[in-house]
Amino acid sequence: MNTKIWLSSPHMGGTELKYVNEAFDANWVAPLGPNVDGFEKDLETFLNADVKVGALSAGTAALHLALIQCGVEHGDEVICQSMTFSASANPIAYCGAIPVFIDSEKDTWNMCPVALEEAILDRTSKGKKPKAIIVVHLYGMPAKMDEITAVAEKHEIPVIEDAAEALGSTYKNKACGTFGRFGILSFNGNKIITTSGGGALVCHNQEDKDKAVFLSTQARDNAPHYQHSHIGYNYRMSNIVAGIGRGQMEVLNERVEARRKMHDFYMEIFRDVDGVEVFSEPTEDYYSNHWLSAIVIDENKTGKSREDLRLAFLEDNIESRPLWKPMHLQPVFSEAPYYGTKVAEKLFDDGLCLPSGSNLSDEDRSRIEIVIKTFFQSNNLF
Ligand SMILES: *Cc1c(COP(=O)(O)O)cnc(C)c1O
Repeated sequence: MNTKIWLSSPHMGGTELKYVNEAFDANWVAPLGPNVDGFEKDLETFLNADVKVGALSAGTAALHLALIQCGVEHGDEVICQSMTFSASANPIAYCGAIPVFIDSEKDTWNMCPVALEEAILDRTSKGKKPKAIIVVHLYGMPAKMDEITAVAEKHEIPVIEDAAEALGSTYKNKACGTFGRFGILSFNGNKIITTSGGGALVCHNQEDKDKAVFLSTQARDNAPHYQHSHIGYNYRMSNIVAGIGRGQMEVLNERVEARRKMHDFYMEIFRDVDGVEVFSEPTEDYYSNHWLSAIVIDENKTGKSREDLRLAFLEDNIESRPLWKPMHLQPVFSEAPYYGTKVAEKLFDDGLCLPSGSNLSDEDRSRIEIVIKTFFQSNNLF
């Protein structure tokens, strides 16, 4: 069997252990310490938008704290992009709130601003004005932030940006994760950089950050004994994990470049294939880190489905995966309201994510290319 080619696997840069060793040498193994501070500073500098970043145990934890800080409570409604990973929506349920799912638009595959406004008007007319809007930058592609921000501001609803997949992406030269009232980042093992597991909350003032840190460290009031006037969480990032993050920040720009090169590689392969579209920026306003490269296959034109291609890859031990199954189609959220015109459904039916790691070799790329060319050749599409 050929060695496995993964969709996206961890890619260490080399200096991570230096920071981890420093933490060991100083016995700074317990939570907090210089690596956490350093990693937060590195992220703030990278995002370049006068933000305050709190390092946490996961992106999911960051979303949970963002919802709490937006005042989301039991029985409230929260708007969420339907086409996304379940971690975007689960924290709504942690709060005892109800998700209202919104369809994608065709340009960026992210939240459709038209369906968003339709939902806000309809929910509000039913006496349930949504408490927050969770927008996602899917696969690194920035959402239509001007349009979404305009709708959100008009109705005075805070935006939480799920930028878990979009560290290094920009919209109109501004970093994804810095547009909303809060932004969230993830350093899970498959993301563009990883700390083995971790996340961050991007805030716009020290007060919001301090509150997030307070809630993430069991909400201890200022007293010599353990005194609590809020429910707290154990969501803070450890100093060891943050050391890995500091090393990864040193190579983040290289990682973005390598992922974008993978996108170029697929553009080149599919250039002459009628009926296959490579997911790309709609205009120059959008700059994607291309965390995952993805394609949409028109079965009418190619006579092949995305499942056929997935199985062809699998035969050569190459991982590929259908796009995120929309949340409103998930059994666990089957009762949740949904607004849209089935754009996300269609993308799910026809779309496939392709191997996109920054650590793929020329040999890996040539295996991928051979599978694709052989697969479409039988149709004389090449
Ligand atoms: C990975 C991911 C998350 C969750 O991040 P974790 O760090 O794994 O908790 C949230 N939203 C999206 C879109 C993701 O891809």
